[in-house]
Amino acid sequence: MSRALVLFSGGLDSILAARLLMVQGVEVLALRFVTPFFAADVGDPERYAAAIRKKYGIPVLVRDLSHDFMGVLRAPAHGFGRNFNPCIDCKILMLRKARELLAELGADFLATGEVLGQRPMSQRRDAMRSIERESGCEGLLLRPLCAQLMQPTEPEQKGLVDRERLGSLSGRGRTGQQQLAASLGITEYPAPAGGCLLTDVNLCARFRHFAPGIFNLSSVEMQVESFRLLLFGRHFAPGPGLWLTLGRDQGENDRLAALREPEDWLLTTVERPGPLGLLRSLGGTLTEASLTAAAGLVLRYAKKVNGRAEPGLVRIRGKGFERESCFAPLDEESAQELQGVQETVRGRTCPD
Ligand code: SF4
Repeated sequence: MSRALVLFSGGLDSILAARLLMVQGVEVLALRFVTPFFAADVGDPERYAAAIRKKYGIPVLVRDLSHDFMGVLRAPAHGFGRNFNPCIDCKILMLRKARELLAELGADFLATGEVLGQRPMSQRRDAMRSIERESGCEGLLLRPLCAQLMQPTEPEQKGLVDRERLGSLSGRGRTGQQQLAASLGITEYPAPAGGCLLTDVNLCARFRHFAPGIFNLSSVEMQVESFRLLLFGRHFAPGPGLWLTLGRDQGENDRLAALREPEDWLLTTVERPGPLGLLRSLGGTLTEASLTAAAGLVLRYAKKVNGRAEPGLVRIRGKGFERESCFAPLDEESAQELQGVQETVRGRTCPD
């Protein structure tokens, strides 16, 4: 029996690709990559794998791709899509990583749920071929949903897969996928969940603003932890080279606390509920003025007293440093001067 490693996005197309192979007797292992930008629906990998297996009969392996993905984000050889999505380089990376796992996982070939012509950037025939080449997957990569429209691959030539029983879907319509799902007995389609935040117009604006902007992130090597911070909260530069993120609710406060690094400072209100402030140095020095501005921002978004932001105690904790002092809330004009882009980031489902 042959074994296929299927790049799995959790969407209908990759489910169909896996099932099309399974009905031919190919043993399938689905590979789901996660980063801070996509696959947020995975959550706990073991639970996720159990749920997919129960629902679709497909075994799934979850792998974290965050650190490798950072290299792609810093300098994508094929550039970005309409927003901050480096789709072609993203696919090359995923395929390369998957190919490197073939021997370890005992798989004979790779498969994806791609459909020729479905996406303008990464699913044109020429882009698909260059992705194959650059990932070192020439001949090894089968696209079961549109295989009959592509050159025969090694698994087809070796008789590991029957080409006649593969698909010939193309274009952006979904009718073919719906018919195929019905023929495979798949009646419940996965709800789009998580999505790829890099396709979000607001996140794109945020990166454009931040990378060359007030936080001067381009001067430091962007780490995955910094990107995680950019995905939520309110952002400010309370001083040169200093970056303050405020949680907008308890959930964001908890996320911020979990992202704290040893060198970060945490700011909290003492007398009334308020945002957690996470202050990070990007090469800047914490001065009394920047600390006052950061504490003033925390108080500005703390619970109001008689409808007004009032002075109050703010506790500041850093490495070997703890202090509690009374500060005044920052007024609107000063806050705006220190403000970054504040849109809510939603993301769209990864097309692949
Ligand atoms: S949309 Fe999909 S292919 Fe594009 S960057 Fe996001 S996860 Fe990668």
